[in-house]
Amino acid sequence: MKAAVLREIQQPLTIEDVDLDGPGPDEVRVRVVSSGLCHSDYHSISGDFPVPMPAVLGHEAAGIVEAVGSDVTEFKKGDRVVTCVSMYCGRCRECLDGHNNVCSDKPSTRPADKPARITKGGEVFTQYAGLGAFAEEMLVHRTGVTKIPEGMPLEKAGLLGCAVLTGVGAALNGAQVRPGSTVAVVGCGGVGLNVIQGAKLCGAARIIAVDVNERKFDLARTFGATDCVKGGPDAAAEVKELTDGGVDYAFEVIGLVQTQEQALGMLRRLGTLMIVGMAPMASQFKVPGVLMMVQQLQIRGSLMGSVPFQIAIPNYAQLYLDGKLKLDEMVSQNIKLEEINDGYAKMMAGDVARSVIVFDQ
Ligand code: NAD
Ligand code: ZN
Repeated sequence: MKAAVLREIQQPLTIEDVDLDGPGPDEVRVRVVSSGLCHSDYHSISGDFPVPMPAVLGHEAAGIVEAVGSDVTEFKKGDRVVTCVSMYCGRCRECLDGHNNVCSDKPSTRPADKPARITKGGEVFTQYAGLGAFAEEMLVHRTGVTKIPEGMPLEKAGLLGCAVLTGVGAALNGAQVRPGSTVAVVGCGGVGLNVIQGAKLCGAARIIAVDVNERKFDLARTFGATDCVKGGPDAAAEVKELTDGGVDYAFEVIGLVQTQEQALGMLRRLGTLMIVGMAPMASQFKVPGVLMMVQQLQIRGSLMGSVPFQIAIPNYAQLYLDGKLKLDEMVSQNIKLEEINDGYAKMMAGDVARSVIVFDQ
């Protein structure tokens, strides 16, 4: 199959022919229809979040089941599915507690004594997050797959696997934004736009979009932002002024120390900072302890929408089909696998909400 391969950081991905193994007992082989370009993969391209190379990146995909392993009874050939990085063991404390998105024993990859899923002539490829969705097919543990409702277009459904799940979920399930509250969303890319529409679904009264790139403001308004503020050192003061003292919730959706600190500075008393962006491994942001205490602030993280994706993704698909969730407006361009480097260049230039690879059917 064709795949986009990372061989060297800060270099273009190369399109290569690689071999994908057949399904093991607990695996599902999926023919990819759509695969979105998320910034998380770019953190590996840039080297901020290193992965062993060569690697097949990509993790925001929808497709059709091609084959299933001998123990898989919940999926069959022809099923229309979305995949997700949140595979789970079902036995650890987090899983048993209803939080399988933070499973501490994820069965993402095959055990070390089994052959690798992606190879070529003896060379072994890392399969990003147990998915490797920048490829024509994926071999995924059964717990990383969910079916979607009839009528959900597969070309759009890939976005549900990360951008929508993460962004809408961070507002709905992570922060549990209260109706009538005020929200700031720092970073209005594919994920941030979904935090905005998640906050709107929750009934937030005021949603302030913050981005360095003012071209994102029209899109942010389309997704539900009521105000827009230019990102930078003055953003926190401006948000506080607009809201008479600060917001109830500030979401950081970039992954930078400075914007994490800025977002913290946007809160009113009793406010909550939600960390959604993926900061470089060793980075740390400063938190004034006394402010935390005196103002009773909270800081929380949100991973992949904070709930089991097996429930959230079909729900979000249904919201889209019912006209209550925006997806069409998020796809700035459909591209071919061969255009992936240009897609990432456009993301870094701030020209797109999402680029989505659509494979020939
Ligand atoms: P993106 O590149 O599409 O969007 C980032 C946005 O931030 C852009 O609009 C950019 O203009 C803006 N920006 C950059 N620097 C800024 C600054 N200094 N001030 C204000 N705005 C600034 O990225 P994305 O795909 O939306 O992903 C956003 C982040 O979320 C990434 O770090 C990604 O890895 C992370 N992520 C986290 C999860 C999770 O489970 N928590 C899941 C997916 C992605
Ligand atoms: Zn992602």
